[in-house]
Amino acid sequence: MITGQKGNRMLSERKAELVKQIKRAHTIGISGHTNPDGDCIGSCLGLYTYLKEMYPEKQIDLYLEPIPDKFSFLKYAEDICQEKTLDGAYDLYFSLDCSEPDRLDRFRSFFEEAEYQICIDHHFTNTGFGDLRFIFPEASSTCEVLCDLLDMDRVSMDCARDLYMGIVHDTGVFKHTNTTRKTMETAGILLEKGIHSEEIIDRTFFRKTYVQNQILGRALMQSILLLDGKVIFSVISKKDIEFYGIESADLDGIIDQLRVTEGVECALLLHEKEEGVYKVSMRANDLVDVSEIAGMFGGGGHIKAAGCTVHGESRDIVMNITHMVEQQLIKIKEEAQESVYDKRNS
Ligand code: AMP
Ligand code: MN
Ligand code: MN
Repeated sequence: MITGQKGNRMLSERKAELVKQIKRAHTIGISGHTNPDGDCIGSCLGLYTYLKEMYPEKQIDLYLEPIPDKFSFLKYAEDICQEKTLDGAYDLYFSLDCSEPDRLDRFRSFFEEAEYQICIDHHFTNTGFGDLRFIFPEASSTCEVLCDLLDMDRVSMDCARDLYMGIVHDTGVFKHTNTTRKTMETAGILLEKGIHSEEIIDRTFFRKTYVQNQILGRALMQSILLLDGKVIFSVISKKDIEFYGIESADLDGIIDQLRVTEGVECALLLHEKEEGVYKVSMRANDLVDVSEIAGMFGGGGHIKAAGCTVHGESRDIVMNITHMVEQQLIKIKEEAQESVYDKRNS
């Protein structure tokens, strides 16, 4: 992942420090980001499983917001807690799949008060926090980063299932451009642990409940094209959420379906969390950098998948973002024209 001798040496030193800190700690806490997704759940449960199996004598606790039912078949899913079980601070605390401490939301203080903090992530927008950091933006997922850090010979089938699941989710089943040869090779190593990949993919990625399909259908039907079909958006109101009796995780997959609409460069899904407060999911195809746009609203993510929370009217939010997309597209066109001009004149 990190090339060059210096980089390698630094990485091996940091890996040694990771092992040292784990061995030193009696109490270890693990958390991922708010609204946990597949990679967040897979990396947290994967690390939890690995540490529990390797160090049964230590107190290891996993704190995450409640996870969707479809993940409950994963080993130790029932161990996930929300209320602190330890008196005092943890010796060691892991932040997984979080680009900034704020993303830990209600578990941020558990991490910050810990004696030693380790950040493992793959967001290029990561602000760089914690005493020891493993931030690899070229990795498909936090699960892929973990596979580089753990002793793969000692990864059990239960741990492999979690890590494979996380890779599957962040790559859209090995489809997104973040899928590299290394991603495939890592997934291959995990497959060899005897996991059933088809079960993991179907149960956690493709399978939808009836009501999830209904809301997907509704979001697609009500979607609107802007900017000559280059932007598509759909809004899920609080009323819709209440009517269908659903939660955020039931909206998974809607944004991906919007993105594959022919001609679209940028897809937006606005989900009204509270009156006038929207969680905005953004996905880009070839040209647009949505992380830049999300960043302007205090959010973040990756170039092709990003998000933020915005206060205001849905119409204004969509118009503002569409304007930013338009500006990016104009700039890209101008740069392309300049480069043609330069070539002609050289
Ligand atoms: P989502 O649209 O929620 O699936 O998120 C897409 C990507 O953007 C993921 O990598 C998230 O971690 C990141 N992301 C979403 N919301 C935020 C936010 N409010 N702040 C920072 N990153 C975010
Ligand atoms: Mn995530
Ligand atoms: Mn991730």
